[in-house]
Amino acid sequence: MTDVLKFGGTSVGTAERIRDVARLVGTRGRVEDPCLVVVSAMGGVTDLLVGLKNSSSERKKEAAEAALHEIGARHRVALSGLALSADESRVCAAAIDEEMLRCRELSLGISLLEEISPRTSDALLAIGELISSRLVAAALRARGTDAVWVDPREMLATDATHGAALADEPETARRFAARVLPELAAGRVVVTGGFVGAAPSGATTTLGRGGSDYSAALFGAALKDAGRVVSAIEIWTDVDGILTADPRIVPQARLVPEVSAAEAAELAFFGAKVLHPATIRPAVARGIPVVVRNSFRPDGAGTIVRRDAAGTGVRAIAMRKGVTALFVGSPRMLLAYGYAAKVFSVFERHRVSVDVIATSEVSISITVDEKAALDGVVRDLSEFAEVSLLEHLAVVSVVGRNLRSTAGIAVRVFAALGDVNVVLVSQGASDTNMTFVVAEGDAPEALLRLHKEFFE
Ligand code: ADP
Ligand code: ASP
Ligand code: MG
Repeated sequence: MTDVLKFGGTSVGTAERIRDVARLVGTRGRVEDPCLVVVSAMGGVTDLLVGLKNSSSERKKEAAEAALHEIGARHRVALSGLALSADESRVCAAAIDEEMLRCRELSLGISLLEEISPRTSDALLAIGELISSRLVAAALRARGTDAVWVDPREMLATDATHGAALADEPETARRFAARVLPELAAGRVVVTGGFVGAAPSGATTTLGRGGSDYSAALFGAALKDAGRVVSAIEIWTDVDGILTADPRIVPQARLVPEVSAAEAAELAFFGAKVLHPATIRPAVARGIPVVVRNSFRPDGAGTIVRRDAAGTGVRAIAMRKGVTALFVGSPRMLLAYGYAAKVFSVFERHRVSVDVIATSEVSISITVDEKAALDGVVRDLSEFAEVSLLEHLAVVSVVGRNLRSTAGIAVRVFAALGDVNVVLVSQGASDTNMTFVVAEGDAPEALLRLHKEFFE
């Protein structure tokens, strides 16, 4: 039997935190049931790597140097705080030096070319997980736990979509059978980095920001496919579990003990950063429970995500900023047969994914991520429609079970919102969410009011 334990950036953010993780992992389970540990980059390191990438491509030499220095220092300071044996310390220091050298070479290459390919970007962004996971493995061995570091690129097979790679689940399971199961069978805890995989060519890929959660779920799935019993995938983070809202915006938010997979997926999609949107699918498909827990308070029970969870009604409220709305009107006023298909084919042609959709007799309103390239979309739509844009919006989503059939939810939502202006409304297609769009500046207030109405 194997548990998969994933530790996020804050859970491995300092030497002290890494030692806490080692203690937590080291004191669990029996030797016959070693776990698989997946770690994120140390908190803030992926952001530093993104900054390094940008300053390198803009040839901002001083900023790039400063980032390189800080990334190296973060890891070396952590290493020195781990109290490793001299041998272990030497090996870890050499690994850090090697990764930092690579980091410097990539940065130099980017600045020489003044451009960055998605493939180079992935090679650079992966460095945080490649180092942090080695430190965790060493910290485990330092307290006497038999642990082995495995390069995530030997474990996670993906396609070549750099920056947002998709897993090749059958190939990943084959690699688990060959590389991971023998280690577990020998009683060793396997430690690896999340977020990172390898394309068929062997090139380093990443799963997209927040992707270590997804790695953990994929690894749980691969273990099960390779024949191990997986009791749970535990996502260890810096809050008690999934809460009724983001506690950074709603301090009164409280723990949700249990959510269904559908609810968790909606919450993740609509901005609850605590779980990466794609995370649960591989786990749910195999009936493996996902548990979200607080590494700062390991005694708490956390939130359990199950295929089905008890209870109905509103479970939590999520919010995602950085949204732009397009209002696409038909000049002939009534929407003709085939009009919607024509509108959406423009989005498809430009590979822009649409988010919230609402229609009226004369127009279609669509929201997209503000980072999407919209020039081409607007140009093509303007050939047959009147298009207007509204920027700096946020999507707010009330998530729960049987929302459509629970009387009065919409009334309560709108009464609670009061004078907060709602730009667009969409009763979710799945009965698990009611979603609307407000100005970004109004979103925190909307969240506070809704929370008060449904949970306080
Ligand atoms: P990690 O580094 O462990 O992956 P993240 O920062 O990605 O952690 O996710 C945890 C954060 O998610 C929390 O600190 C919290 O601010 C945020 N968050 C947003 N919505 C929720 C929610 N509904 N419940 C819990 N946390 C939430
Ligand atoms: N380190 C990556 C990020 O910051 C992946 C993760 O932490 O899940 O996005
Ligand atoms: Mg995360």
